[in-house]
Amino acid sequence: MTSTIESGPLPEIDSAKARRAYELDRKHVFHSWSAQDLLDPMVISAAEGSHVWDGDGNKYLDFSSQLVNTNIGHQHPAVVSAIAAQATKLCTIAPSYANDARSEAARLIAERTPGELDKVFFTNGGADANEHAVRMARLHTGRHKVLSAYRSYHGGTQLAVNLTGDPRRWSSDNGSTGTVHFFPPYLYRSAFHATTPEEESQRALAHLEQLISLEGPSTIAALILESIPGTAGIYVPPPGYFEGVRELCTRFGIVLIADEVMSGFGRTGKWFAVEHFNVVPDLLTFAKGVNSGYVPLGGVAISPEIAATFGQRAYPGGLTYSGHPLATAAAVATINAMEDERVVQHAATLGETVIRPALRGFAERHRSVGEVRGVGVFWAIELVRNRETREPLAPYGGSSPEMNKLVAACKSRGLLPFANFNRIHVVPPCNTSVADAKAGLAILDEVLEIADGFVA
Ligand code: PLP
Repeated sequence: MTSTIESGPLPEIDSAKARRAYELDRKHVFHSWSAQDLLDPMVISAAEGSHVWDGDGNKYLDFSSQLVNTNIGHQHPAVVSAIAAQATKLCTIAPSYANDARSEAARLIAERTPGELDKVFFTNGGADANEHAVRMARLHTGRHKVLSAYRSYHGGTQLAVNLTGDPRRWSSDNGSTGTVHFFPPYLYRSAFHATTPEEESQRALAHLEQLISLEGPSTIAALILESIPGTAGIYVPPPGYFEGVRELCTRFGIVLIADEVMSGFGRTGKWFAVEHFNVVPDLLTFAKGVNSGYVPLGGVAISPEIAATFGQRAYPGGLTYSGHPLATAAAVATINAMEDERVVQHAATLGETVIRPALRGFAERHRSVGEVRGVGVFWAIELVRNRETREPLAPYGGSSPEMNKLVAACKSRGLLPFANFNRIHVVPPCNTSVADAKAGLAILDEVLEIADGFVA
């Protein structure tokens, strides 16, 4: 029997309106990261919790959280009404004024970030959060270079895309100086010929230390690292790695920037992924889950030392919408709802009791599965053509007819997956119910049977 998503109470869908949305999209909308003429975007007409409905009224379980941002699901009523209430009261105000929504959001974030990262600079999203973090680090240290990992993503603006360590950088890798990439740990395809997590950790740290000394520690302002790299493949660092990076940064006076844009706000079963490693970065960048993406918002949480650099000296940077009331009111409501509904704890339990055992089972039963890895509601299934050679089911930086078939098979069963190169990520909202998680995993189980047919 084929698993599909039960159709629940149907929201009102006007399919004529949806068709017009599609036609206008094709005529006028220029999409991100895409060859425009090859696109066939699904119209989403309604959404609630972990589900969305297309323009024909078909219901899908959203195992992607869109771009891994709807951490409390779609249309959470507390957040929707907080945005509406804020809109009625005060839609916008310049960043130079104090405002209750912004002040309260900053307090709630500062209380949850580790250590004393108690000052928050708000941005419009993740890329500009990283841009500002690097600018702060450069001005704080008087140094220029930034170290960043391969297999990472830090955003689409010019500097942030240069920092990025995945193929989205390649065509824009010009004009910005000073980014040096290093190999992060990735035991399954170890760059260090390691065979255990401990070996991978030690060797990746030795490589990083050598790279720092060859580049010249006195030239390096910052090291930016996703606490658990996300889109690039969900690589939970092996024991001691993040702590070792912290030690190297401290020893050489390098500002450690933890990019928590995707891994933050409950995704890994903690408020921030750095908590898994007991590390306090000097700067922590966030976006996405801070308000589930209901209104664009990002930011940088700043250490007292770096904040002090700009105590008597102006910070040369700003945005018209820094701490926008609608976005920060949404953040306040989101964080409060996550506390009230114990969403972070739920993500941790769902990961340990439902997703981890299911994915372990996939790895045992399906010969197309090379590796599964993750924590909380942040998991990757790495697909291969051959378990011995580990040849990926799609090349690095590309797709393949086989991966396209798997994505289509998920959608035809009512599951929206998150696929990247040869991986399917299991990244549903943090508050997905056990029943929905199991339903989505049952669909993936079937789709992996199709993937097994591609194994040589
Ligand atoms: N950093 C990480 C780890 C991300 O995953 C992303 C987006 O996916 C970004 C930065 C960029 O965020 P934004 O798209 O909001 O600019």
